[in-house]
Amino acid sequence: MPGASPQGPIEAVAGVDIGGTRIKGALVDRSGRAVHAVTVPTPPDLGSPGALTRAVTRIVDELQGMADGMGHGVRLRACGVVVPGLVDEDRGVAVRAANLGWRDLEVRAPLQEALAVPVALGHDVRAGLVAEVRLGAARDVENALFVPLGTGIACALLVDGRVLHAGGYAGELGHVQVEPAGLRCGCGGRGCLETVSSAAAIERAYAAAAGLGAAVGADVVAALVVAGDPHATAVWDRAVAALARALVMAVTLTGARLVLVGGGLATSGDVLLDPLRRAVHAGLTFQRAPTIERAALGDRAGCLGAGCLAWDLT
Ligand SMILES: [Zn+2]
Repeated sequence: MPGASPQGPIEAVAGVDIGGTRIKGALVDRSGRAVHAVTVPTPPDLGSPGALTRAVTRIVDELQGMADGMGHGVRLRACGVVVPGLVDEDRGVAVRAANLGWRDLEVRAPLQEALAVPVALGHDVRAGLVAEVRLGAARDVENALFVPLGTGIACALLVDGRVLHAGGYAGELGHVQVEPAGLRCGCGGRGCLETVSSAAAIERAYAAAAGLGAAVGADVVAALVVAGDPHATAVWDRAVAALARALVMAVTLTGARLVLVGGGLATSGDVLLDPLRRAVHAGLTFQRAPTIERAALGDRAGCLGAGCLAWDLT
């Protein structure tokens, strides 16, 4: 077993990534390796008092049970929890997460009491960038963007080696306007990047263009693009153009040398990345052209990032 020691319990932290549909947890050793991992469905009542603490505690118990089952046990040093939405890392408060139904939820203090170890609260995407910097595709990079494309679009910014926080407000790339007369966005705005270039937006737009009753997955749309389907190609081209426009802005503002594309849409690989590279580079003049690559850690980035934040407390 990796990390196991016949001499006694292994030292590890727990990293927990709370998403709208799934919670992922892992015991992470000092090298950043997930020694044990578990994924459970997100309980429906996570916004009610104490529910988040109970859910995280249950996962940590389960992970420790797995370690015990392997016969090596674990000495838990700390716990990191990452959540989506607006997060105030300094106060340990999840300020707002629309799809999880909470507002100003104290996370760190009650968890610290329940687990009796130091607890860090972080933002899922910023923590994912931390993991990519320490363990993944952004090692030895000082200026980078991490852009997961999924149901929504988020962005974490690494500038001069520091991940920008700004009280939780930094990096909302999904809500820059790319089509002034575009669709209404969940944020209340119109024509946000998220309404054009997220996986969900591509799925909706293709279903409408092709006259389908129900949306098909973005991976199916990508395959149709490769096959030369005209509706899929039109939807894809529009999504890539809008994403490129937003990335040109972000690169111009931050000087990023590396753009890591993550999330479900990144699994389409070069079908997305090749035209995106061309469009971004065509939109730059004097700026440094960034390398645009797929993120390395996939859907484990948040969980491993939570582990990084936890180790930072020890
Ligand atoms: Zn918006």
